Amino acid sequence: MDLGLKDKVFIVTGGAKGIGEAISKLIAAEGGIAVVAGRNAADNDKTVAEIKATGGKAFGIAAELGKVEDCKKVIDLVVAEYGRIDGLVNNAGVNDGVGLENGSPEKFMASLQKNLSHYYNLAHYALPYLKTTKGSILNIGSKVAETGQGNTSGYAASKGGINALTREWAVELLPYSIRVNTVIPAEVWTPLYANWINSLPDPKEKLAAIVSKIPLEKRMTTSEEIANMTVFLLSGVSSHTTGQIIYVDGGYTHLDRSVS
Ligand code: NAP
Repeated sequence: MDLGLKDKVFIVTGGAKGIGEAISKLIAAEGGIAVVAGRNAADNDKTVAEIKATGGKAFGIAAELGKVEDCKKVIDLVVAEYGRIDGLVNNAGVNDGVGLENGSPEKFMASLQKNLSHYYNLAHYALPYLKTTKGSILNIGSKVAETGQGNTSGYAASKGGINALTREWAVELLPYSIRVNTVIPAEVWTPLYANWINSLPDPKEKLAAIVSKIPLEKRMTTSEEIANMTVFLLSGVSSHTTGQIIYVDGGYTHLDRSVS
């Protein structure tokens, strides 16, 4: 199947590591131009170099997405370089453990800024260009919006907000034929996941307990499996799919875990 990405420009936030890295690399492998936008220039450069080494096209932009001005900078730089935007993958986020009891109003707002605000800010600034190309927006959410996790109010609220914005933006952008969808991971081994599990008292035991409850094949989802669905939904091949929240999680969130 040809996804039709050739020389089209896609911004991937947090595109240098974990799930975002897999998405950037798949976009480039499909002939698209991956704009890797993340806070660490060295991480961005590494991923861009790896893509170029395989003959792909990529461009790195260092940006702290919690800052509104950096979100605007990302869009301005992409437009200056390529003159177009064909898609936005809102992916960057951090499960930062701001709980109800252990957090504070200030930490809660800061968590929304790290996990939710830049999804809106980038979509807002990219919109004039997405209108021209009839591009699409793909958000990466989390099962936490559906299941809760405990001690992570800011992250949970952000991910719930992303699900709501998926439906809201899909409706608002119908007149422009801009599609908006969200892919939900649950348990994917990435630097973020490793940090989280290593913050728990017995990471090895906890990991084994989680994996044993993943219905399909008792294994974690790979970043490449998230990327496959993401890039499909981003592409014009999924031309009549909008406002959807798709779980790529081996059935972890919804299936009966007593079935094994
Ligand atoms: P990751 O391994 O930490 O990679 C995320 C990348 O984004 C990193 O390069 C990170 O930079 C960058 N980043 C994060 N916040 C940023 C910001 N405010 N400004 C600029 N760059 C930023 O994370 P991941 O596990 O791939 O997660 C990607 C997405 O999937 C997130 O939205 C997460 O909530 C979601 N998700 C993941 C899982 C999972 O199992 N891994 C499960 C559910 C949902 P630094 O390395 O410098 O922080």
